[in-house]
Amino acid sequence: MKLKCPYCNSDLIEGYIDGGKYSLKWRDKDINFFQKHTTFGGEVLSEDPMAKCFRCKNCNKIIIDLNEL
Ligand SMILES: [Zn+2]
Repeated sequence: MKLKCPYCNSDLIEGYIDGGKYSLKWRDKDINFFQKHTTFGGEVLSEDPMAKCFRCKNCNKIIIDLNEL
């Protein structure tokens, strides 16, 4: 069964975000200037820069299931 976009109900396309050689990190919205402009800090979501995700090309959103990283 194809996954549907929770915003517009279009079919989602399975693919990957490719972060090149960098791990995928999460940073909270409220971070200071230093944290924002350096490679330090952040919560590593995936050591593998290829993050599996689902994309909606209709409304331009990407969904990542962190359990599948
Ligand atoms: Zn959508």
